Formats: sequence, structure tokens, C-alpha cells
Amino acid sequence: MENMIWTWLEHDNGELSESSMEILGEARKLGNSLKGQVHAFLLGENTEEAAAKAVMYGADVIYTATDPIFRAYCPEACLAAFAQQAARAPRIVLISGTRNGASLAPRIATRFQWGYLANVVKVAPQDDGSLKINTETYQAKVNNTYTFTARQTVVLVLQPGSIGVGKADKKRSGEVRPLEPVAEMTDRIEIIGFIKADPRSVSLNDAERVVAGGNGFRNQEDFEILQGFADALGAAVGSSKPIADKGWLPYSRLVGQSSGRRLAPNLFVSVGVSGATHFVEGMKDSQLIISINKDKGAPIMKEADLAVVGDLYEILPEVTRQIRAMREEAERE
Ligand SMILES: Cc1cc2nc3c(=O)[nH]c(=O)nc-3n(C[C@H](O)[C@H](O)[C@H](O)COP(=O)(O)OP(=O)(O)OC[C@H]3O[C@@H](n4cnc5c(N)ncnc54)[C@H](O)[C@@H]3O)c2cc1C
Repeated sequence: MENMIWTWLEHDNGELSESSMEILGEARKLGNSLKGQVHAFLLGENTEEAAAKAVMYGADVIYTATDPIFRAYCPEACLAAFAQQAARAPRIVLISGTRNGASLAPRIATRFQWGYLANVVKVAPQDDGSLKINTETYQAKVNNTYTFTARQTVVLVLQPGSIGVGKADKKRSGEVRPLEPVAEMTDRIEIIGFIKADPRSVSLNDAERVVAGGNGFRNQEDFEILQGFADALGAAVGSSKPIADKGWLPYSRLVGQSSGRRLAPNLFVSVGVSGATHFVEGMKDSQLIISINKDKGAPIMKEADLAVVGDLYEILPEVTRQIRAMREEAERE
């Protein structure tokens, strides 16, 4: 076993995902501390730019494979790619706990008979070569500590958004190594097409944009104003806890620590939410945060990249109207 760190990168037709950049940063840190290289599996077509980016974010070696089977997530094919290198077992396999990552990681551990831990929030190499690993369970209410000896390979699933994306280092250099084809393999799943997720029904974890309403809304019917705004933006709707407690939205739409998840969408808009720590814990990793509140001193305003002070009942209908008009104009062009 070598002190290598392996990781598996996700991309959308060559666009490296945020979670992959995040996982590379953590892999790099571990690689530095264990004096080992970071080897990343980047499977699929059109990955040249993603490979260059992966190097900037911490990879030393990128394994690529362009077999058509990698056009969609196929765990068996990924395992076949990993198997080509598994004779040189790494020290750690670090996987982001996205929907596909969380599905692949236990398969890797089972296939190669390596250790496995999910919900990882911290990995600390110790002086004796062992790893001290913290995980969070029961909606982040329980923190567990595990130790893996220096002789064990372990597959770790890191909670996406728990660390954040680090800085790219444009001076780094790395090597791309194409893998042997895995084309002989037939997938047990046949992909017949892709349907874009409906923001109204997509899980908040998967939504690229989220708007969340709070107690600033006077009654349940007024949430239609928020829904109209969300529809115009192509965003999913969430809420603070009082709204869920009142039954205006189901708990599956709750934002905050009680939901047990940390959202990290591209855009998060809070409307009529004060920004209690319990709420902020669930959304602070969002890339762009806009907060609308009539109180400029509300704590949520400090979290915001753009703080809009005013009455939501005046602002939302007007902004919704303007977004719709812009969309219609763009469609006409
Ligand atoms: C153990 C525990 C766990 C919790 N977990 C969660 C959790 O996961 N998620 C969560 O959300 N909460 C959680 N809470 C509750 C949390 O502490 C807050 O009470 C809650 O987040 C407040 O919700 P809010 O911001 O919607 O309401 P409020 O605090 O009442 O804030 C309403 C805001 O709306 C603004 N406003 C009012 N009218 C308007 C208007 N017309 N236009 C614009 N702005 C307006 C006000 O200025 C105010 O800032 C938890 C509490 C505990 C004790």
C-alpha cells in the first residue's frame, strides 16, 4: 500500500463539479500531510479542460477513459476503471457524498475489500501514521471518532459542502494517464434519455437554485408569491422551521440544521428570514446568497453577498415581473 490518495471526479460534459473541486482540495491537503500523490479518476468524454482544472485544484495524476459507457454514471464501469490501478492500493479513497458518489464509494470498498466510512467531516493523519476520522450522524447531532491504522486502505465519503472549494493553483503540474478501454462491459442499466429536473419537485440537495421563505410571510396563501418568484428563477422552494412547523411546506423543504443537510446551491435567496444560526448552518455554503428582509440589522444580512432591505410584498412581485420580462425577451431573440 502506498500513501496515495485516490479520488473520483464528477463532471457535466467536461464541466468539473463543485464537489469534485472541493474533494480535490481535501485530497491535496491529505496528500501533503501523508507525503503521497493525489490520483484522480476522471471518466468520460471531453475531459481535457476538466483535467487541467483538476490539476490546479490538487491532482498529480489524472486517469481518463473515454468509453461511451462513461457518458452516464455506471458504477460497474467505474469499478472496472478503478480495478486497472487497484494492484497499487492507495492509502485513502476520498469520495464526495453526492448522489452518485455515495452510491459508488461502498461498491469500491466492497469490491477491493477496503475499509469504509460515510458522513465524514474531518480526516486527521496522526504522528504514528494512523488516521483519526470524524463523522457526523443523526442529523449532525452526534459526532463520532474512528481510528484507522497505517496499514489499512479506507474509502471515505465526505459530506459535500463540509469543507468548501479551495483556491486553484495555476502553477501546479500533473500528468494525464489514459486507462485501457472498458468497452467490453455492458451496463445493466440502459439510459434512454435525460429529463431536466423540475425545480418544483427536485430535492433541495440537488437544486441549483433555492429560494427560502420565512416568518416574514403573513399567511400560507402568500407563499404563492414566493412560488411565482421561484418559478421565474427556475429555483426550488424551501423554508425556515416556523413555516414547516405551521405546515405551510413539508419538512422535506426545511432549510437548516434540523434538516441534517448543508445546502450549497449556486444561488440561495432568503426572503423574510431572520437568519438564526440554526437556519444559517444549512445554507451558508451556498455560492451566491441574496437576502431580502425589511430589517437591515437582521443576522441573515451579514451572510449575504447581496442584502436587499425592503418589504418582500413590494420587492418579490416586481422582481418576478422583471425576471419574466427578461426571459421572454431572451426567448424572442
Ligand atoms: C434545536 C433547534 C433547532 C432548530 N433548527 C432550525 C432549522 O433547521 N431551521 C430553521 O429555520 N430554524 C430552526 N430553528 C429555529 C430558529 O432558531 C429560528 O427560530 C427560525 O429560523 C426563525 O425563522 P424565521 O427567520 O423564518 O422567523 P423570524 O425569526 O421570525 O424572522 C422573520 C424575519 O422576517 C422579516 N420580515 C418580516 N416581515 C417582512 C416583510 N414584509 N418583508 C421582508 N422581511 C420581513 C423580519 O425582519 C425577520 O427578520 C431551530 C431552533 C432550535 C431551538
